[in-house]
Amino acid sequence: MTSSIKPYWKNYIDGAWVDGAAGRLTVDNPGTGGVAAEVALADAGDVDRAVMAARRVHESGELSAMRPVLRGRMVRKIGDYLLAHIDEIALALTHEAGKPIWESKIEIEGAARYFEYYGNQAETVEGRSIPLGDGYFDFTTHEPRGVSAQIIPWNFPLEMIARGISAAFATGNTCVVKTPELTPLASTYFANAAEYAGFPAGALNIICGYGHEAGTALSAHPGVDHIVFTGSVGTGIRIATAAAQNVVPCVLELGGKSAAIVHNDADIDAFLNDVRWGIFFNAGQVCSAMSRVIAHESIHDELVERMTSVATSLSVGPGLDRLEVGANMGSMVSVSQRDRAAGLCETAISEGAKAATGGHKLNLPGAYLAPTVFADVAPDNTIAQEEVFGPVISVLKFREDAEAVKIANNSNFGLVGGVFTRDLDRATTAARQIKAGQVFVNEWYAGGVETPFGGYGKSGYGREKGREALWNYVQTKNIAIKLPSA
Ligand code: NAD
Repeated sequence: MTSSIKPYWKNYIDGAWVDGAAGRLTVDNPGTGGVAAEVALADAGDVDRAVMAARRVHESGELSAMRPVLRGRMVRKIGDYLLAHIDEIALALTHEAGKPIWESKIEIEGAARYFEYYGNQAETVEGRSIPLGDGYFDFTTHEPRGVSAQIIPWNFPLEMIARGISAAFATGNTCVVKTPELTPLASTYFANAAEYAGFPAGALNIICGYGHEAGTALSAHPGVDHIVFTGSVGTGIRIATAAAQNVVPCVLELGGKSAAIVHNDADIDAFLNDVRWGIFFNAGQVCSAMSRVIAHESIHDELVERMTSVATSLSVGPGLDRLEVGANMGSMVSVSQRDRAAGLCETAISEGAKAATGGHKLNLPGAYLAPTVFADVAPDNTIAQEEVFGPVISVLKFREDAEAVKIANNSNFGLVGGVFTRDLDRATTAARQIKAGQVFVNEWYAGGVETPFGGYGKSGYGREKGREALWNYVQTKNIAIKLPSA
């Protein structure tokens, strides 16, 4: 198989591959320090055409009036297409994102899984009948919202698009997807997949453009009925404001600073495996990463030492060379993201944290940061408060159970949290007290597409994944019938 990708990638509007009215954008390859390709750059006019195409399909009833089982089968076929083209898509994703090929494949498999799950859910969205007493017959129905705007971050572009459009299509909506500037290439395969699955032209539109231009135009467009945004808090606030001005609902999936509480009766070997996946997978650029560990003081030093071994066991380098699952890690997504993370490491050291390993850039072309473990972190240190979005884990100490939960909750975010112990009472008490949308007991990332996901606090609102997400994409109508008197 060739290891190169095509040099120019177009946008997809109303069933056609098109240039962008704003020109082209160069997409870097952060794994090599070179260029990955160019992508078409949409302006507000392109966004308008995409929204109008999606509106036309919505209003035609082509998707919304279809028998749900048939729509569900089409949704599942999108996933089939992704899996059938996994090598090609993974190559594009690794070129633009720097992640190892095997991680790109995991992302594509994860994306395909959304289409399986929501394809299967399509025919389960049922209303209910509400008793109103003699002489009435009342029932509810769930109707698609219409045009769903999906604004996507760069860290898992394929999974994030899949998460939104699978549920949107399953419930009969149409979509306009604004891909991230840093990783827009592999996302274009969803257009091929939707064509293969039989979706009509205009049902799915995929455009890349600057956030301040195409993103702003999409979130403020009066033809959009619903917005799903995944990304940073600042942008989320802007998007929620735009949504409020058009009086349309939005879902915000924002950042995190999630903590694992580790008690001294925890299975430490299993926990170390979770550290490997929890903070070093995707070079730590995961919204629900395990970025803080709150360790019981009796095991703190042992944990720091063993977490350091996990970090130093990783071979860090170009994702294109890393085909098989292994103890390795790719680059971060861009030099500026890497430099931001390195800056937060410098701040951590200046505030008194100790780098047990890492805390610095790697001397490789591209965007590499050493896998990093910080010890002696205080709960209010910047490194314990700000999302690094890189391979950096901070270890804090606790003595009493209540203190551990207090430290875990000492954050503006509340995306996920974890507790590691063999004591089920202790685990369930902490699980109830942790302020987060998901709590993992004894396995970080326990759950899946089936389990609802979303934030407390500044991590956002609304839920994606699980059956909960279906309700984002529909509006409930109640129909009350006064029956003729007998
Ligand atoms: P970002 O907010 O900079 O950008 C996200 C998207 O918004 C991009 O497509 C961007 O072009 C667009 N955008 C930027 N400004 C805009 C504007 N004014 N109007 C409309 N759109 C605009 O975020 P990012 O740096 O790409 O992603 C990283 C962040 O995403 C992290 O904070 C991470 O935690 C979060 N994230 C959250 C989840 C989750 O499910 N909770 C998942 C992945 C990433």
